[in-house]
Order: sequence, then structure tokens, then C-alpha cells
Amino acid sequence: MILNFFFKHNAYKHVFFDLDRTLWDFEQNMRDALKDIFFEHQLDTVFPDLPTFINTFNQKNNYLWDKYLKGEMTKEVLRYKRFEATLEDYGLVNPRLAKTIGEEYLNVMPLKTTLIPGSREILEYLSERYKLHVISNGFQEVQLPKLQRSHIAKYFQWIVTSEQSGYHKPDARAFAYALSKANARKDESIMVGDDLEIDIAGAKKFGMDQIYFNPSKTPHRIKVTFEVRDLREIKEYL
Ligand SMILES: [Mg+2]
Repeated sequence: MILNFFFKHNAYKHVFFDLDRTLWDFEQNMRDALKDIFFEHQLDTVFPDLPTFINTFNQKNNYLWDKYLKGEMTKEVLRYKRFEATLEDYGLVNPRLAKTIGEEYLNVMPLKTTLIPGSREILEYLSERYKLHVISNGFQEVQLPKLQRSHIAKYFQWIVTSEQSGYHKPDARAFAYALSKANARKDESIMVGDDLEIDIAGAKKFGMDQIYFNPSKTPHRIKVTFEVRDLREIKEYL
């Protein structure tokens, strides 16, 4: 207890959170949205089953997101291309359907509200002690409804997306932009995120402390400030 007390005398004033897969359960919510679309458009006539559709979409989406993050593809193209490629893998060439589904997915997914276990509890706890903000690489009009619908928007002072700042994490300028919005100094700020490269190495390179949320306990070689397996463990440090 004494050690805990000692540790908590830190200089942090601001806690910056990643959103997808850190607070908002991206995998579960994505599966729920894709399930709606699968049955709505009778895609069981195209794919052998729902998991196949979801896995195929996941592969295409990851590949194309990477291109988007590298600036090789616009978000408008990404939005339908990932479905066009998914359908084409199972022999359906239908760009119009891909466009419809692409729009629908973006409308439906942000309305899903499953959070990572412990999210609400840790936000409640931290918001009484620190100023909380979000730094996300997502689209503005997608990330805001996610926070509102799952009733966690109220915990945050600033919600900054890469679309707004013009820079994607791990680019140091994405962090710099968010900190300046929040009027926060590096040495009084800490970043919480699930992505070792994007959130943690990014924040570290920028010069702020980090809490690596690593629920699967994936081994790694990066020296991080703190590491937790469950969000509620953050209470041990902050
Ligand atoms: Mg994330």
C-alpha cells in the first residue's frame, strides 16, 4: 500500500486514450454490424457462412486500411473497396452493392455499443483525478457516435481524430496536435493504447509516457512506462 501511495504521486494531469480496441470493442462491434449486413442483403447466397464473410472482410479491410494510412488510398475509396474485394473473392462482381453495403456498414457500426471490459469503471475513476482525452486514427463522423452511443463521451474533454489533425498516429504530429488542443504538456501526459507501434511506440517517440493495454499478453521488446492486461489495473499506477 505504501508503495502504491508513493507511485500515485505522479505528475500526470492528462490521460490520452486510444478508442478502437482500447475502450470500444472494435472486433465485437464489427462482427455485429457485419452480421446485420449479411442477413439484410442475403449474403448467405454468396458466402458459405457468416464467419467466412467476416474473415474475408477482415483480411481485405486490414490490407486496405494500411494503404489508407500510408496515404495510398482515400477514405471514400476505402469505404467501398473493402466490400468490393470481399464480394469478389467469392465470385460476386457488384460494385453497386459494395457501395451500398459500404455506406450501411459506416452507419450501423458506430451505433454498436460493446465496450472493452472495465472501460466505464476506469473512466469513472480517472475522470475524477485527471483530464481525459481521445486520440484516434478513425474518421470523425464515425468515432463521435461510437463515444456518444456507448455513453462515454461525457468523460472526455477533447476528442481528436487523425482526420481533424491531418496526421495519423504514430506520427508525432498527431500527438502534438492533440496535446496542444488539450493545452497539455508532454511531461504531464500519458497515452493509453492497445497498439504497440501506433499508440505506444508513437507516444514514446514523441516523448510522452505510455500505458500499453495488452490483454493477450503478447510478448514484445519495447520498454514501456506501464503495461496492463485489464484496464482496471491502471488504478495501480494512476
Ligand atoms: Mg486501438
